[in-house]
Amino acid sequence: MGAGDYYETLGIPRNADEAEVKKAYRNLARKYHPDVCKEPGAEEKFKQINEAYSVLSDEQKKRQYDNMGHETFTNASKGSYSGTGGFGGGGFSADFSGFGDIFDFFGGGQRRSGPQPGADLLMRIQIRLEDAVAGMNRDIEVMHTEPCSACSGSGSETKRLNTCPRCGGTGQMRQASQSPFGQFIRMTPCTQCEGRGKIPEKVCKECRGSGHTRVKRKVSVHIPAGIDNGMRLRMEGYGEAGDYGAHNGDLFIEVYVLPHERFTRTGDTLETTIEISPAQAVLGTTVEIETIDKRHIDLKIPAGVQFNTALKIGGEGVKRRGKPGDLLVRVKIVTPKSVSNEQKELYQKIAELEGKSSSGGFFSNLMGGKKKSKK
Ligand SMILES: [Zn+2]
Ligand SMILES: [Zn+2]
Repeated sequence: MGAGDYYETLGIPRNADEAEVKKAYRNLARKYHPDVCKEPGAEEKFKQINEAYSVLSDEQKKRQYDNMGHETFTNASKGSYSGTGGFGGGGFSADFSGFGDIFDFFGGGQRRSGPQPGADLLMRIQIRLEDAVAGMNRDIEVMHTEPCSACSGSGSETKRLNTCPRCGGTGQMRQASQSPFGQFIRMTPCTQCEGRGKIPEKVCKECRGSGHTRVKRKVSVHIPAGIDNGMRLRMEGYGEAGDYGAHNGDLFIEVYVLPHERFTRTGDTLETTIEISPAQAVLGTTVEIETIDKRHIDLKIPAGVQFNTALKIGGEGVKRRGKPGDLLVRVKIVTPKSVSNEQKELYQKIAELEGKSSSGGFFSNLMGGKKKSKK
């Protein structure tokens, strides 16, 4: 997802400060908000603006973005699947076939010194179209790290941390090497404290000093009505635990909407088909349509309706932000493959009235194309 460079998306220079980022975001978000802007593509644009802002307004993510470049960063955020799916049950009807796994989202970037914030997680779930239309609450199980309860996340049994003796608390070490051009100094994360600058006074036995424990938690997710394929929900603070004193990562939930056997969706419009006989098409009729939430609506089909005509039922589409879309009912006229003798006589009569004989001519060509399946 997302198009170009995040700075371009927000229309700001690469050295823009926090206030400029915020200001640009506010102006653009106001301009392209889907409730306000009726321009085509406004919604996509709005999504991109939000994506750009979520990265550039976060000091840690911005740094990674600046370091890695747009391409690498956005690919890293897509990540690769790892581990095995542990997210069965919980009302997920479909199999996960590769979805449902968790992987580091923005993780694996540059380490900085000081307490490390937790990595974001991305989880993909599949939902049924009817649930996307109506919205739902769902409990999901997420495997993530939390602060160790034995040491309150400090990694130290005494909950006290000492300044790292190797790096003197900077979290960095200087590595000097000689080159033909002179001495070359490289800063690397301290190997004793892993860049944190502090080490536990007495290493916690439960978490071996990491301050984290890996746990499986049930998280209640509200999936809003109208959610579409590929949209992401953000659960702030439900990602990996940060180091002692640093914030947790976020959990992103990416939604995949499964195909429905009767309905297809385009934007906020739902579409379904109805089959009628040639006689019904000629004379007009009333048919019963089952809506996606299983209510029954009478639909009047006008006399003389043509094949593939779409009849609109207003307000029975996807209800997003209170504005309901429409339901299109596409009419399929189905030619009977076998008819009773009485029906056949009547069709012959029609054919005669149309001035054509039932053997040869236009009408038989029309019928003769179909496979004859007389019983
Ligand atoms: Zn150190
Ligand atoms: Zn601990």
